[in-house]
Amino acid sequence: MENNRNKDRFDSDEFEALYEYRGTDLGASYGKDETQFKTWAPTATKVSLKLYSCGSKAQAEKDGTKDLCRVLDMEPGDRGTWNARVTGDLEGVYYTYDVTVDDVTRETEDPYAKACGVNGRRSMVVDLDRICPAGWAEDQRLAGQLGEPVIWEVHIKDFSYDPHSGVTPKWRGKYLAFTQKNTSLDGEGEFPTCVEYLKRIGVNYVHLLPTFDYGSVDESKEDENQFNWGYDPMNYNVPEGSYATDARDGHVRIREFREMVLALHQAGIGVIMDVVYNHTYHLDTAFQKMVPDYYYRQERDGTYSDGSACGNDTASERVMFRRYMADSVCYWAKEYHIDGFRFDLMGLHDIETMNEIRRRLDELPGGEHILMYGEPWSADKSAMKEGGIPAVADNIHLLHPRIAVFCDQIRDGVKGDTFLEYEKGYVNGDEKEALEFKPVIEQSILGSSTGRGKIRALAPSQIINYVSAHDDKTLWDKLLFTTVEEPDYEKKYDKLVQMNRMAAGIVFTCLGTPFFLAGEEFARTKKGNGNSFNLSPELNQLDWRRAKEYEELTDYYRFLIRVRKELPLLDHKDTDAPEKVCILPTEDAVLGFYLEETSKKHWKRAMVFYNPYDREEEISLIMGQWRLLSDGVSQHDPKGEEAVKDTYILQPKSVTIFASDTM
Ligand code: CA
Repeated sequence: MENNRNKDRFDSDEFEALYEYRGTDLGASYGKDETQFKTWAPTATKVSLKLYSCGSKAQAEKDGTKDLCRVLDMEPGDRGTWNARVTGDLEGVYYTYDVTVDDVTRETEDPYAKACGVNGRRSMVVDLDRICPAGWAEDQRLAGQLGEPVIWEVHIKDFSYDPHSGVTPKWRGKYLAFTQKNTSLDGEGEFPTCVEYLKRIGVNYVHLLPTFDYGSVDESKEDENQFNWGYDPMNYNVPEGSYATDARDGHVRIREFREMVLALHQAGIGVIMDVVYNHTYHLDTAFQKMVPDYYYRQERDGTYSDGSACGNDTASERVMFRRYMADSVCYWAKEYHIDGFRFDLMGLHDIETMNEIRRRLDELPGGEHILMYGEPWSADKSAMKEGGIPAVADNIHLLHPRIAVFCDQIRDGVKGDTFLEYEKGYVNGDEKEALEFKPVIEQSILGSSTGRGKIRALAPSQIINYVSAHDDKTLWDKLLFTTVEEPDYEKKYDKLVQMNRMAAGIVFTCLGTPFFLAGEEFARTKKGNGNSFNLSPELNQLDWRRAKEYEELTDYYRFLIRVRKELPLLDHKDTDAPEKVCILPTEDAVLGFYLEETSKKHWKRAMVFYNPYDREEEISLIMGQWRLLSDGVSQHDPKGEEAVKDTYILQPKSVTIFASDTM
């Protein structure tokens, strides 16, 4: 019953009182003349530091150099820490720790590593100030300067792996693809791709799937066909090596990651990282070797809690892991100028931890603008310490107003339940579904913050609106599955393009923050696959030829991104915002709402209508002259359009937007 004793001990206040270490110097602190190594291992009886010349044994053999250079015993310090000081310039030296707990000695990388060798099993001493691309010193976070976020979610490899991406072959699928200027389809200079494309459509935040070091891709292999989403963390504070042009030299991934951030910032785009603190790749981790069973939740019988469905759950409620998460997030914000964080399975973390991270980010200069949002659910129940409150949707009112959640209510309301693949929603359903989901869509218009419905946010600031993300079927595939008997993934269905427009039209006219999966705007398909995490890069990659083929759909998104900024109230995120939106009385399942903001220069008033029916629908307009901005099929130059008044006939399956500057 050793495990049970550990659980009780690590959950106890006494343990925290004795061993909580508040210092900020864990890890290797580099100095030109001396490096200090410090680690937290309160249950260890001995810790030694091992210095290596190379990032892996294989590399030392290949180079023919002496591998292990020095072994030093570390001194026990206060509150369970162990220290060693090594004189000399250790920049670029690799290291590990030998940790002895219960008479068992195991070698491990540093959980606080800032750099590492290939596959992350050896940490590296690094002088971050030496790894600055030109312009880095002037670069800063953009969060707070970009206006209301429009978030585009992409995987680094998906972004540029397509040979038609116009990206130079050696950079395809890598960090550096983001740095190539003036990319175009097949390099022909006509249709923009990659960052050029993002600038054109007007996305202002790129959300990157996990980019810290993860374990499922073997960095030592040159095999470019390896693919994984990366939800299998190894080194939380080091960029993933397989996206670097050289994973063996610990400097390269750091420099190239910074070059990517710099290039996006120069394009006026903020960078959001997907962070996965809720579980680790497996239990063979630095955490588990350093302080066995401290960082992981266990059931009473000693088995490891598995609310992540990945074999383990970390324990955010334990003070040293809570601190670890906050330190790690702040580290990325400071050292890599990251503008936002998306928390995987946030429902596995406790509320106190999430609010503490918000508090810590807020302490940074301009830190209050750094975005925080997460998945307000877990895969299964987790053995959180008694008294801990999970950061799930039901507890959203306990989260800080500037921590947002993915709103599955709008996601499933628009296109049908994600887990029941043939279920339809408001946009792809028939009359029955349209009526059934009307109240859900109405909640969504009001930022899911009215105190009614499934998600009861404090304010629209807590809501991420979306209809597709990397998980589950793409929007196109879901629409295809639910409306076409024998789906043909190569075929362009006009009917589906229209439903896709309508789904996006809804997301972009609701209170909250719009978010979409990269390529949703050009009908991205993964051929019906809803969990492509380890499938081929060819299936996962953005198909840049398709982007051109569906240019009209992309142009509609571009219009929505632009018009959202111009319409009244849609950028309001405070508690009062929903009350300012006036839902109009409409027939059947049609929805309409009126927005007014007299202080706004252009447009002061707007009316928006959703018609989920397959037929035209007549609606009445509020008195006055209106300009038609879009009938939901095409978008118009408002100056060129005739004024509309009294009544209007809505297109089938459409979002229609009118605006006016007269009061
Ligand atoms: Ca890795």
